[in-house]
Amino acid sequence: MDSCIFCKIISGQIPARKVYEDELVVAIEDIAPVAPVHLLIFPRRHIVNSLDLHPENNALIGHIFQVAAHLAKERGVADKGFRIVNNNNADAGQSVFHIHFHLLAGRHFNWPPG
Ligand code: 5GP
Ligand code: ZN
Repeated sequence: MDSCIFCKIISGQIPARKVYEDELVVAIEDIAPVAPVHLLIFPRRHIVNSLDLHPENNALIGHIFQVAAHLAKERGVADKGFRIVNNNNADAGQSVFHIHFHLLAGRHFNWPPG
């Protein structure tokens, strides 16, 4: 999608610090980290958010969680704890409308979230 920041990162039009990529997904360092580890994992395919998912995307979402777990282990935060966050629409604070999963770690996170 032409105007999408994450599609532009995937195509190389906008630079990003890539930490992982495969045929389905890309993971980058968030440009404005809110935790010592703050990565974004998103599919190469432009999907708006969870409301735009279909049964054929089920394996993709499972794969994203496996990539998140892999990256948490790689960063050495798996045992201590990490959070996977997916914001959908305005009240949740979604600002980029290409589905993505935040991998947050390296500090304690409150519950309930703010
Ligand atoms: P959302 O608010 O939609 O859940 O998360 C979007 C995330 O994308 C934010 O944490 C924001 O800092 C990050 N972000 C927005 N634009 C860019 C960018 O150009 N590069 C990178 N690396 N992260 C971005
Ligand atoms: Zn996109």
